[in-house]
Amino acid sequence: MSITNRRPIWLGILVAAAVARAGQQAPPATPALSKSADAAPTHADLLRGAYGPYRSNNDLLYYHLDVRVDPEKKFISGKNTVRFKMLADGNRIQLDLHESLKIDKIVLGTAQLKFSRDSGAVFVDFPETLRAGKTYSIEAYYSGHPLESGRFGSMAFKKDASGHPWINTACEEQGASMWWPNKDQWRDEVESMDISVSIPNGLVDVSNGQFAGKTDLGDGYTRWDWRVHYPINNYDVSLNIGNYQHFSDRYRDLPLDFYALPEDLDKAKTQFSQAKGMIEAFEHYFGEYPFKKDGYKLIQVPYSGMEHQSAVTYGNRFANGYLERDWTGVGISTRFDFIIIHESGHEWFGNSVSAADRSDMWIHEGWTTYLECLYVEYRWGKEDGLKYTNAYKSKVKNEKPIIAERGVNATPPQDQYFKGALFLNTLRSIVDDDQKWWALLHGVYQHFKYQNIMTEDIVAYFNQHTGMNLTPVFDQYLRHPAIPTLELKFDPANGTVAYRWKADEAAFAMPVRVGTRDHWQLVQPRGDWQSMKTPLSKNEFAVATDLYYINVEKN
Ligand SMILES: [Zn+2]
Repeated sequence: MSITNRRPIWLGILVAAAVARAGQQAPPATPALSKSADAAPTHADLLRGAYGPYRSNNDLLYYHLDVRVDPEKKFISGKNTVRFKMLADGNRIQLDLHESLKIDKIVLGTAQLKFSRDSGAVFVDFPETLRAGKTYSIEAYYSGHPLESGRFGSMAFKKDASGHPWINTACEEQGASMWWPNKDQWRDEVESMDISVSIPNGLVDVSNGQFAGKTDLGDGYTRWDWRVHYPINNYDVSLNIGNYQHFSDRYRDLPLDFYALPEDLDKAKTQFSQAKGMIEAFEHYFGEYPFKKDGYKLIQVPYSGMEHQSAVTYGNRFANGYLERDWTGVGISTRFDFIIIHESGHEWFGNSVSAADRSDMWIHEGWTTYLECLYVEYRWGKEDGLKYTNAYKSKVKNEKPIIAERGVNATPPQDQYFKGALFLNTLRSIVDDDQKWWALLHGVYQHFKYQNIMTEDIVAYFNQHTGMNLTPVFDQYLRHPAIPTLELKFDPANGTVAYRWKADEAAFAMPVRVGTRDHWQLVQPRGDWQSMKTPLSKNEFAVATDLYYINVEKN
């Protein structure tokens, strides 16, 4: 069988495995359906993943997604207005929409445009050449029954326990084009967006951005309008339709808005109060909450949770830990609500600082997992922060690099979460000066906020601001499966120990603390052997493996 024929079979197996795992092993908003890095990308992956000529010839400015959702028919219809600036002359652009949905028409002003569809891609053709530097606006009308797929359903039509419709979108893995037409890639974002959702009277829609009002349409439906004032990842765009009750609060001058089902309102009022401490901690390390004009929202949903920008969705059972478990297993996870802290941490890393390709998604997940560790340190001190961080070691597999292949819609392995955080903790130990480290964290966020970047941008920032060449260290941890091994060779007769790094990167070098816990000595191993005096025996000689994520081999 060819790869394309074989693929659906093992994808089916992965789906089954993901379902079995859901709520037990998988991290929040995880790519549980991640495709194997070994499988060749399909034609559809290349169309979705590549930043091809009909994407790179334009720059997104604005969307207005205006849809009507029929809960009974499980049907969506409406249009997306797409405003963009041409970067080069051209007469074709690429949008994306899943094949299960119909495109009714695409118009430029009053002119109907021709288009052709190829798997999920929609190529829109213009009768006249669009000119570089000019701005255009088209409307893509569509309708259909969205295909419910993936761990969180992409767009799922459910009912709550009392029988009211409960309709939510969460589509990071499958893509926003599962339920609305857009330029479905990570590199380019609109600068702002309007979202209008028409739903039967009596239901509430909570989407991203600032609430801009609701209008009774006179036909049994009400339109809910939301205004996003910032760039937004397409997968962050979200509808949450249900029998929601609303309550609000403030953190300083930031509006906090909360939405829960009536039967869970009391529990939500208690649990959602953790949002304030979360914002305080992350503002301490990185600076102001990124989406102030849009406010911060927490919305109850029937799945575990997702970082939808300024409209974080929550399904963690109003209990601390992650789905009522001690997620990292060392007694710290149970002190806070994992989903509130993790998904909201993405407002800084994921939503504000975003990766420009799925391959570098560790910029979202590795960083946000590290934000959990920082939250623990902020609340309970450095020692607990370290304990929490190191507990993640048991979840790392080190089988594949955490940066996946670029431009093919590849999803990195789950190591991007845990190993990403352990790597950042290692980097802190390399910098070895907490004042400098806090300044670096604050600086890297402030420098890249509201941007879509690649790992190379972060490496360049750290190299420039530390004066070190950290490229081989980043590359070893992110672009190879294995972590570095500190090789130690003891010579008891001479009272010496020889040391060197064993790593894939030839230029890999980093300092490490060795000796005894109450009297660490900083050494600078490289790829070649060096030697030092030590009064310690092979058994007594320790390495600070809680500060550096490394293997140690003693001979
Ligand atoms: Zn996450």
